[in-house]
Amino acid sequence: MSSVKSVNIGGLKIGGGAPVRVESMLKTPLEDVAGCVLELDGLARAGCELVRVAFPREGLRGELRQLVTKSPIPIMADIHFNHRFAIAALDCGCRSVRINPGNMGTRGLAELISAARANGAVIRIGSNGGSLSAAQLESADGDRAAALVAAVEEQLLPLASAGFEDVVISAKSSSVPQTTRANFILSQRYPFPLHVGITEAGQGVGGAVKSAVGLGILLSQGIGDTMRVSLTGASKDEAETAYSILRALGVRNKGINFVSCPGCGRRRIDVERMAGRVKALLPDGLPDGLTVAVMGCEVNGPKEAAEADIGLAGTQNGFVLFKKGKTVATGGEDTLEETLKTFLAAPV
Ligand code: SF4
Repeated sequence: MSSVKSVNIGGLKIGGGAPVRVESMLKTPLEDVAGCVLELDGLARAGCELVRVAFPREGLRGELRQLVTKSPIPIMADIHFNHRFAIAALDCGCRSVRINPGNMGTRGLAELISAARANGAVIRIGSNGGSLSAAQLESADGDRAAALVAAVEEQLLPLASAGFEDVVISAKSSSVPQTTRANFILSQRYPFPLHVGITEAGQGVGGAVKSAVGLGILLSQGIGDTMRVSLTGASKDEAETAYSILRALGVRNKGINFVSCPGCGRRRIDVERMAGRVKALLPDGLPDGLTVAVMGCEVNGPKEAAEADIGLAGTQNGFVLFKKGKTVATGGEDTLEETLKTFLAAPV
């Protein structure tokens, strides 16, 4: 169950039953337009559908305008402190801006609403645990989840009373319990699309796990219309991790569903090395949702991965290739590339 209301950013529908969208944020500074375009292209290839870009000063108008023109996907300008930057971003062609209630308050909101209306733009109100004001924390008696909600409401209520409904809301912190509680409250109170994510989730496995736990709790309850996985590292990893989470939940099936066993005393191959080889040999353009399995032994592998569209299990002399549990080829490790290519040349 997604939000009742929906918005449209440059042709991308969010909420109101649309698929849960995958977002990221550029790590390249806006001053480096060529670097930003390169990063945007990589994100688009990884399936990212909306990208936020920090717009910290009006002096970068020219760069933002160029980026909006060159980007293959819609851009959302990320604004802190000053509503004038948001208006400038709209003037540069952005069809969405994110404003932070923790450091902007309500100053200039009426002016921003007029500019957003004139440009058919969407405003995301995004509170963040790290930028809550002392007053917001104090009025929530130190309850950070309640403070995140109250911060969103501080800007949302003026927008709603002005009849402006092209709104996305979000409340994020680096704490899973705080973020999930804030989003449960927002989803019950408001019909607007929710952007969800665990902010500053960290690096590598730890960051992916924290994001998967937080987003898994929310998305499994139907809460969340668009998401960002915030990782320290390459931005395309954020999009790939987001799709892994969506696939694991059965919410979206973009990309390959890769299955591999942990390996045990029965294994006939180095499962980790073979999984890496098979992944590297898979061509681009395979159908979304295809299940590929690499299993350590032929005793249990084909049965345990009986759903695989392409499965490989180790044998004494090499491997057996199977499809839906049935053997289709066998070979030695040195013939892996050729055998896989022949198999993939036939309709999968
Ligand atoms: S597939 Fe074989 S090697 Fe892998 S965990 Fe199962 S029994 Fe062990």
